[in-house]
Amino acid sequence: MEVKLHMPEKVNLLNFDMQGLKTYFSEIGEKPFRAAQLLKWIYQFGIDDFNAMSNFSKSLREKLTAEAEIKLPEIVTEQHSDDGTIKWLLRLDSGNSIETVFIPEGSRGTLCISSQVGCALECSFCSTAKQGFNRNLTTAEIIGQVVIANRALKCIPRNERVISNIVLMGMGEPLLNFDNVVAATNIMLEDNAYGLSKRRVTLSTSGVIPALDRLKEVSDVSLALSLHAPNDELRNELVPINRKYPIKELLAACKRYISGETKRIVTVEYVLLDGVNDKPEHARQLVKLLKDFPCKINLIPFNPFPNSGYKTSSLEAIERFRNIVVKGGLLTTTRKTRGEDIDAACGQLAGKVLDKTKRGARRQEKEDISSGRAV
Ligand code: SAH
Repeated sequence: MEVKLHMPEKVNLLNFDMQGLKTYFSEIGEKPFRAAQLLKWIYQFGIDDFNAMSNFSKSLREKLTAEAEIKLPEIVTEQHSDDGTIKWLLRLDSGNSIETVFIPEGSRGTLCISSQVGCALECSFCSTAKQGFNRNLTTAEIIGQVVIANRALKCIPRNERVISNIVLMGMGEPLLNFDNVVAATNIMLEDNAYGLSKRRVTLSTSGVIPALDRLKEVSDVSLALSLHAPNDELRNELVPINRKYPIKELLAACKRYISGETKRIVTVEYVLLDGVNDKPEHARQLVKLLKDFPCKINLIPFNPFPNSGYKTSSLEAIERFRNIVVKGGLLTTTRKTRGEDIDAACGQLAGKVLDKTKRGARRQEKEDISSGRAV
């Protein structure tokens, strides 16, 4: 008779926030307070070895060693930009990798993390969109990016930079990976883990209204909205999900999200594309659109990538646009491009996506045809 040895898969504890861990511990016959202890070991003390968790009983340590694991994505490369930006390429499985970027700014530092392998949305100016989509990241893969960056930064000699802010602005649409993103942000905010304030964890979305309403029920991270156009006609073209969730309804949903708390605002992201959305008339429309909307505007010079079909706005166009918006009374900042020399700037994150949508292949075919290459 053939005997098949079946090794049950270990449970990756990075997949659980406080609530998830409490459930896990009670399922294995342990007290729920173990959850807070475990979070501290992993996220505050950087300990992955269950045997080193000295406030756990010997039998618990043995049980965890046998059944559970703390498994991080694998670092493939770590690139350093001249301006201090660091980019990690992380391998998730045999076909897929993602990118994570750390951007230092004085004593502060922002970590930009990914939420999906590729992206299912097709924003016309974003390089991740061109790669197609493979799958959602697990909670472990999302929070794992923070763990990896945190540990790597502490390893840099005399490093004074810390992760003070986290933005979900890497690859993917976070609201389309709702549960895992919420669990991972819970760990970022949790006092027993990273303990970041909700003002320092920002979720950026192209505007999935029903998910935004659900988010209000379970989380209160800060919100950034990828607007990029002051009217529906143009936004339909740049951010196609706008056809489903148009601007007026989207702004109303954002207002609902920040309601109930004074002084809360939404960061409105606006990528400036030469000749497309950067004209004075667009700036004036934007002022009108946002005059009663509690926000600050983040103007983002377009970061080019091969075959994007767009150009970066001239410095004059950016200044002109900015002046109109500022004069219109809107709080406005212009995002500095960082990490360009290592392709780490906004919209340049690529990783490696085993495309399930075949979008990448279709696009390559089109490019080959238009450039006269044989296909
Ligand atoms: N799906 C989410 C999060 C990922 S994109 C969202 O749409 O918000 C996050 C931000 O990257 C976008 O708002 C946009 O500001 C920026 N971005 C995308 N492509 C870019 C490009 N080529 N140049 C500059 N910024 C870009």
